Amino acid sequence: MYPWGNKRHFHSLSDSLRQQYGTRLQKLTINVGFSCPNRDGTVATGGCTFCNNEGFNPSYCDPSKPIYLQIEEGLSFIRKRYPRATRFVAYFQAYSNTHAPLARLKEIYDEALQHPAISGLVIGTRPDCVDEEKLDYLARLAKQYFIKIEYGLESCYDNSLKRINRGHTFRESQDAIAMTAKRKLFTGIHLIFGLPGENRTQMLAQADMINRLPVQAVKFHQLQIVKDTPMALEYEQNPGDFALFELDEYVDFVVSFVERLRPDIAIDRFSGEIPPRLIAGKRWGMIRSEAVVRKVEEKMKVLDTHQGRLYIPDTSK
Ligand code: SF4
Repeated sequence: MYPWGNKRHFHSLSDSLRQQYGTRLQKLTINVGFSCPNRDGTVATGGCTFCNNEGFNPSYCDPSKPIYLQIEEGLSFIRKRYPRATRFVAYFQAYSNTHAPLARLKEIYDEALQHPAISGLVIGTRPDCVDEEKLDYLARLAKQYFIKIEYGLESCYDNSLKRINRGHTFRESQDAIAMTAKRKLFTGIHLIFGLPGENRTQMLAQADMINRLPVQAVKFHQLQIVKDTPMALEYEQNPGDFALFELDEYVDFVVSFVERLRPDIAIDRFSGEIPPRLIAGKRWGMIRSEAVVRKVEEKMKVLDTHQGRLYIPDTSK
């Protein structure tokens, strides 16, 4: 039995939540038509070079529809795929979902929470899109509902962040996470492995940097180059700048990363899933993320290893 309460070789977020709430917390994606400061001119206009948010919304997610209707349509869609799901959280995924005045955010979040099937919110955003007031409000909601904030960090290296035109630094990520942790809000982060300019050693060294952050969950994605993005053009012109992962190599890398990861950080995702027709770079074919999880677990079993086996606690504080 591992410290996360079961025999799986890694600390699974969905298992932990199921244990805590007695059932799976099923995410239901909502799109309210937010933009992002890296696109609307607040920070920049070009956006992150890898970003193409448009292609990935579920069909029921139409920002022109009221939130209530999106939830209703989302429920009938999800219940077909997960007939046993009984508990749902509204997932504000596309773009930056705290990038609006607090009054507007309150309207949106409250509308979602008023739906009887919704018992919480998962809010994807950027580290430069939160402030004390917004987090205070979310902390108040968290007394009654499941509230999770997901910050797109993408990398711990400022050179990489600059290269992908991210428009914020790692310091800003650290500050936003500290502000969020001060309010005991459940905090997740998102990292991309395979960004141009990062070698495998540098990518792996990020585990120690993540371990020093007061976060509770993490999502990993392999870099996928999406068609019609600035990165796709960069890749076409200089493919040698990119060291994209083969599937088996990615599984090995993720296992090494997870061995170094703090055991209390729950893993929400090991890989991204973008339809192959939208991918410009290396494709893994139609492999679902569940299949990648199975491969990672099998590899950990074969190696007789587990999350945190090589974790070195930070004793400098
Ligand atoms: S990835 Fe997120 S932060 Fe970057 S441009 Fe797209 S929506 Fe904005």
